[in-house]
Amino acid sequence: MSVQLFDLTGRTALVTGSSRGLGRAMAEGLAKAGARVILNGVNAARLDEAVTELRGKGLDVAAQAFDVTDEAAIKAAFEELDRTGQQVDILVNNAGIQFRRPMLELETADWQRVIDANLTSAFVIGREAAKRMAARGHGKVINIGSLTSELARATIAPYTVAKGGIKMLTKAMAAEWGALGIQANAIGPGYMVTDMNEALLSNPEFDAWVKGRVPMRRWGQPEELAGIAIFLASAASSYVSGQIIYADGGMISVL
Ligand code: NDP
Repeated sequence: MSVQLFDLTGRTALVTGSSRGLGRAMAEGLAKAGARVILNGVNAARLDEAVTELRGKGLDVAAQAFDVTDEAAIKAAFEELDRTGQQVDILVNNAGIQFRRPMLELETADWQRVIDANLTSAFVIGREAAKRMAARGHGKVINIGSLTSELARATIAPYTVAKGGIKMLTKAMAAEWGALGIQANAIGPGYMVTDMNEALLSNPEFDAWVKGRVPMRRWGQPEELAGIAIFLASAASSYVSGQIIYADGGMISVL
């Protein structure tokens, strides 16, 4: 065993939804482990800001703005990467959205929007990346699931369905792509301090509920996913595929 196992020098990672939040923290971690990291988001100004900040830390990062729900834009982005000789060795399917609405009030279009952003995006981007990884005989796909990959919570039905789907999509990718040299795994974060949870974080009752129910008695910080991403992206996980690793302060064990 050596720490070299975690070295990502010479690898390129594409992390979707990495202008902020969990994606940004995983992108920074992968870059610190030696990877060249391509950041992604839809808000170009926010993306540029993230690139500038990470470059300021001496990290090798670039930007590729596209909407993960726009298949034409995804294909164009991969074609541009091909044209410019950039191979994606590590794909982190992280971009996602969430909003709270009871199912009895949920429009079908809003259901579809959540499924598209959180689940279909991972299939489409995964497929485009895997075609290229297969040609080289290696690749690592890391999908971002959630506690809700395992359990349902009220008012976030399409999100729960999408994240449950992420768990099985990861297994399907592992089943189909293992022979091509591609490993697929997932990370299932618990309650994390990001913009996605802004309303919950500022709600004292919800904050107390999280701290009361999470065995570690606190929310997770985005940086706490970096080590798992590095593990799943590196040679350290060379015989791991189809797994979902929960980073939830122990919550899934007690709910
Ligand atoms: P944030 O809302 O903080 O950040 C979302 C990121 O995704 C941003 O970079 C945003 O880009 C990008 N994004 C959103 N929609 C799209 C799109 N259509 N195309 C491209 N990029 C997009 O979310 P988190 O960091 O909290 O969540 C990241 C992932 O982790 C999500 O999949 C989420 O479901 C999952 N997760 C989060 C948990 C949490 O507690 N926070 C718990 C479990 C899972 P832009 O800045 O351009 O809007």
